Amino acid sequence: MLDTDFFRRWMTATAAAVDREAERLTALDSPIGDADHGSNLQRGFTAVVATLEKEAPGTPGTVLVLAGRQLISTVGGASGPLYGTLLRRTGKALGEAAEVGEEQFADALRAGVDAVMALGGAAPGDKTMVDALVPAVDALGDSFTAAGAAAEQGAEATTALQARKGRASYLGERSIGHQDPGATSSALLIAALLEAAED
Ligand code: ADP
Ligand code: MG
Ligand code: MG
Repeated sequence: MLDTDFFRRWMTATAAAVDREAERLTALDSPIGDADHGSNLQRGFTAVVATLEKEAPGTPGTVLVLAGRQLISTVGGASGPLYGTLLRRTGKALGEAAEVGEEQFADALRAGVDAVMALGGAAPGDKTMVDALVPAVDALGDSFTAAGAAAEQGAEATTALQARKGRASYLGERSIGHQDPGATSSALLIAALLEAAED
């Protein structure tokens, strides 16, 4: 079972990964965006960790709802409302349970990813975070390790794609040949699940 502490560790591990990879995320956002993805997420997840420490939410659902709300209010870019919606919707789907099973979590994360697609209008293949998140959710029933690998593979596969959503879509064919920053950060988010589980 996954308890409140697991979800807090998930957010902390994501914040640490974003800190570690911030320069790379911003560098990826340079040729096909506005070179702010790393700093956007760094600001957001730093605020998430601070809020979780201060408010000490008592259930898995409230950890994620609070984290999502914080991302929406602190990240100005497209990724803030999208990641915020992902976590908030996932948290809401977890309800008020004190502990959740892995299957329940996989269902909740799927609801979160569906909400991202509804909000941003992106489908798999559009070269966005959705290209890492959808394969991750599909593999989550197997293991966190499988989900992490699927997300990483999905992120790498965005290189060959032409962007159809977000800032990178303005470049048309010139967006081909660059890995999508949001899909890359989504792979970090999913990889952090394994870290949270191992702690
Ligand atoms: P901005 O583009 O506003 O500067 P960021 O640089 O923080 O925001 O985030 C860019 C990332 O957001 C993209 O790499 C992409 O993965 C994701 N993204 C942008 N628009 C959408 C969308 N409509 N649906 C899903 N993801 C999107
Ligand atoms: Mg950007
Ligand atoms: Mg921006």
